[in-house]
Amino acid sequence: MEIRIGKANDNDFVVDDSHVSRHHAILSKDREGQFYIEDTGSTNGTFVNEIQVVRKKISESDRIRLGDHYLLDLCEALKAENDYSIEFARLKQVYDKYIKEKIRIQSRNQFKTRILQSFPFALVGILGIVFGFLGKGSHSLFLISLGITICAPAIGIYLGARQAAKTPGKLQELANRFKIDYVCPKCGTFLGEIPWESLKNKKQCSACKAKWVNP
Ligand SMILES: [Zn+2]
Repeated sequence: MEIRIGKANDNDFVVDDSHVSRHHAILSKDREGQFYIEDTGSTNGTFVNEIQVVRKKISESDRIRLGDHYLLDLCEALKAENDYSIEFARLKQVYDKYIKEKIRIQSRNQFKTRILQSFPFALVGILGIVFGFLGKGSHSLFLISLGITICAPAIGIYLGARQAAKTPGKLQELANRFKIDYVCPKCGTFLGEIPWESLKNKKQCSACKAKWVNP
């Protein structure tokens, strides 16, 4: 893959800057997915991290300058070749974070629900011991203790159900955010709850044909 960069209109990626030559540089990618920038005899030079270069291996984090001012955005330049691989690669994090968060919400809520469900029963046990000890022969204490025992399951069910109802809200919020973030970088189509690795194997967007993995 090669992208010709310069001021002239016959380039793949046209740059409108007075200090950039008509045919300034070539951005290429080898079979391993490694990027290179090569100066094609420009007047003002090509620089990687402020060092002038003729041909240099580059990565996403390098600062690539053409001429005196123009900073080349690797991600933008690749779009000239319909290559969205850099932005697509970032989606892996979006997917992993979503799954992790989803599991966290579900399991945390399950735990809380169980605690709340069983709490009244535990209380009854403790009260039973206390009343049993204090209320030797007391008829009214016996009745109070009996009342609490009868109410415990109802309270447990109520508290548990209330906690369980909180989950859908949080999960919905998470799903909404995921629908905004987990989209094709070119056309913005939501990619569904499909693992990133599976999408990677597809290599391109079925809606807009953007290249997600290149080569
Ligand atoms: Zn697309």
